[in-house]
Amino acid sequence: MMYDYLIVGAGIFGAVCARELTDAGKKCLVIDQRNHIAGNIYTENIEGISVHKYGAHIFHTNIKPVWDYLNRFTEFNNYVNSPVANFHGKLYNLPFNMNTFYQLWGVITPEQALAKLEEQRVHFDEPKNLEEQALSLAGRDIYETLIKEYTEKQWGRKCTELPAFIIKRLPFRFRFDNNYFNDRYQGIPVGGYTAMIEKILDGVEVKLNTKFVKGEIPAKKIIYTGPVDGYFDYKIGELEYRSLKFENETLDCENYQGNAVVNYTSHDEPFTRIIEHKHFEFGTSPKTVVTREYSATWSKGDEPYYPVNDEKNNTLYAKYEELAKQESNVIFGGRLGQYRYFDMDKVTELALELTKREI
Ligand code: FAD
Repeated sequence: MMYDYLIVGAGIFGAVCARELTDAGKKCLVIDQRNHIAGNIYTENIEGISVHKYGAHIFHTNIKPVWDYLNRFTEFNNYVNSPVANFHGKLYNLPFNMNTFYQLWGVITPEQALAKLEEQRVHFDEPKNLEEQALSLAGRDIYETLIKEYTEKQWGRKCTELPAFIIKRLPFRFRFDNNYFNDRYQGIPVGGYTAMIEKILDGVEVKLNTKFVKGEIPAKKIIYTGPVDGYFDYKIGELEYRSLKFENETLDCENYQGNAVVNYTSHDEPFTRIIEHKHFEFGTSPKTVVTREYSATWSKGDEPYYPVNDEKNNTLYAKYEELAKQESNVIFGGRLGQYRYFDMDKVTELALELTKREI
């Protein structure tokens, strides 16, 4: 059987491509090396709770066509992300807003908060590293309570050894508003992300536990959403990632921490955050599932999470991009194919644009 399209990867990028091309009358096959669909947004049902297996995912967007498109396949609940930070056992609201300023300094008006922030800021003519950058933008209290040790856990390096550009700006909100994202549309698919992808892939042929091998499955075109360096057998080098490790625990308690996301911003705990999945869906199960999330260095074979888009890796990626252009009938897409961090809405938009061009 000759397929019109072989789609490598059953994540959201591959699934949206498959849906659109199938609806346009193309014969598609989706393969994935994992034993499940949905890629990194996969949710697994444990004790009636949708557990985000590759890290917590909150859908948020300002792109109305993408919102409308995905609403064809799922209903989104009205979850609004409002994380809390725990520093030495004291809690602070995020993102930085009037609630945080009150908790830090007892200030109650925006004017008082602004004045306090100005007083706290440290002037540097040219911040040389992340510490100096954060001190100049946020001042000492916010830096030491909510940024320093959390960032060091995330990167595995001291803030004085990290480049200033990692923090370009820090948004401060002079309202009592804990809604983390500014986007107009936000929520979690009712029933989980896997159910949404299942719906998108309805009627599409999918083969799981199938690693892509060049030339094995006959197809006129390939849409490849795996790592671009892997496609070329790493022949000019390996692209680097930051990885994560997850420790899941099912607890015999109804409500462990009262919030879906609690960041741990001190070195007291080795993990960066604890996710309590049931709160993403206002769950009522008598049990709960929590995940401790650890930042980890990546080596080949580990799950690639965040591309490291520094100069060295971007230069290498540019070379792979050149090779990719010469690869006739293969289109590289998605977060691994394009070696870029994309939120789910952007990935969906890119897949829709690609398939529009193809059809
Ligand atoms: P993936 O989901 O990675 O799918 C690629 C698939 O290809 C995988 O299933 C893989 O197994 C398969 N594959 C790879 N190579 C091969 C091969 N050789 N053969 C066969 N199959 C192969 N976005 C948001 O909008 N909100 C969030 O809150 C959010 N949180 C995130 C948290 C974390 C920790 C991370 C890392 C990302 C987060 N994202 C979030 C981004 C989101 O995960 C991505 O936008 C999305 O997963 C990208 O989908 P994709 O289809 O491009 O890639």
